[in-house]
Amino acid sequence: MASALTEKLTRLVKEMRGQARITEANVQDMLREVRMALLEADVALPVVRDFIARVKEKALGQEVLGSLKPGQALVGIVNKELAATMGKGVADINLAAQPPAVILMAGLQGAGKTTTTAKLAKHLIEKRRKKVLTVSGDVYRPAAIEQLKTVTHQAGAEWFPSSPDQKPRDIATAALDYARKHYFDVLLVDTAGRLAIDEVLMQEIQDLHAVLKPVETLFVVDAMQGQDAVNTARAFKEALPLTGIVLTKLDGDSRGGAALSVRQVTGAPIKFAGISEKIDGLEVFDAERHAGRILGMGDIVALVEQVSAGVDMEAAQKLAAKVKSGDGFDLNDFLGQLQQMKQMGGLSSLMDKLPTELTAKAGQVDMDRAERDIRRKEGIICSMTPQERRKPELIKATRKKRIAAGAGVQVQEVNRLLKEFEQMQGMMKKMKGGGLMKLMKRMGG
Ligand code: GDP
Repeated sequence: MASALTEKLTRLVKEMRGQARITEANVQDMLREVRMALLEADVALPVVRDFIARVKEKALGQEVLGSLKPGQALVGIVNKELAATMGKGVADINLAAQPPAVILMAGLQGAGKTTTTAKLAKHLIEKRRKKVLTVSGDVYRPAAIEQLKTVTHQAGAEWFPSSPDQKPRDIATAALDYARKHYFDVLLVDTAGRLAIDEVLMQEIQDLHAVLKPVETLFVVDAMQGQDAVNTARAFKEALPLTGIVLTKLDGDSRGGAALSVRQVTGAPIKFAGISEKIDGLEVFDAERHAGRILGMGDIVALVEQVSAGVDMEAAQKLAAKVKSGDGFDLNDFLGQLQQMKQMGGLSSLMDKLPTELTAKAGQVDMDRAERDIRRKEGIICSMTPQERRKPELIKATRKKRIAAGAGVQVQEVNRLLKEFEQMQGMMKKMKGGGLMKLMKRMGG
């Protein structure tokens, strides 16, 4: 979709060359393309209509300055308007409250509330150095309470027990009381979701809101819901004063239109995006970058950004420091590198973004296979114990067998991975910390 639109717009921009003004006639053609692109990106129809009307109003009769061509000016207006609709830059989580700052999670069942609660706990612990407590108000699904317990512990936060025979209000009061007494900075409250909007559910979460007086009420929504996201968002906005949105499963949705729809309908900023089911698969949402992605403009720019975002400078610095201090490079670092490769949006999506002359050559490389290979390697490392990852020399025959069984591969594959790791380790040893940083910087642009 992206490249087709870019092509169409480029053609229109060319046709419009030489015209000093953006006129009703030439604007019409371009807006038709933009409209199609938005619909193809799964933006809801009423949102598209509004958007096009605003762009038209801004564009018509606007003088085109300097060397800027009318077509390019219109593309600029569309981009700016998209970014404005989506919100400016990044919106951080608000914790400005008498501790504990309460964060209430709202959304349909399956939206990713529980997963996001744990991801957010990890984010607040690691990035904001907070002491975090979680609690589940989902008294309908005992499994949901257990799930929250498991993921909370993975996140390194504390979990407050609740059970299906309690009332959500009572759970909330007890958790709040415990958080106060034990000096927690943040209390994250996971709530029950239903498969569809219903009155009882809405009443319940409104009650919880009244008891908890949260500083953040986050609406968690599945990006893959596309058009339906609008109705869900509207219902939640009517029931609750939403302060932010978390868009989950963005990794499964290349179109990204839900972001625009949900943002427009709720008026609340999108604060985070879920980009994998893993506990660290949460990203602070960057509105402007996402706006560009929806219309597929500046694919090459996106590629450059993607590569620099993929190389996590913080992780690179940690790694460099480790190499310097002689701690060495272990299998955790190796896993980190594999994950960074995946974070770059997957190899094949990266290839999609390159100009065709380049990809034609690379066509001989089987990208799907390369990606599968990364996933298998990840699977193998994930089947090791933390101790084995830190000290790979512990991995002898019996351990290899256990790891292979856990990952569902042959022992030879475990051997191959260990060999590859050793080669990488050798390279890392040769490179002094400074050299590595330079290399990472060069990759990051
Ligand atoms: P809840 O019912 O709203 O609490 O939803 P869950 O947290 O149980 O999530 C439902 C499913 O979506 C689970 O299988 C999660 O692993 C998955 N999930 C949640 N967020 C993401 C995400 O950002 N990316 C991907 N790929 N999966 C996600």
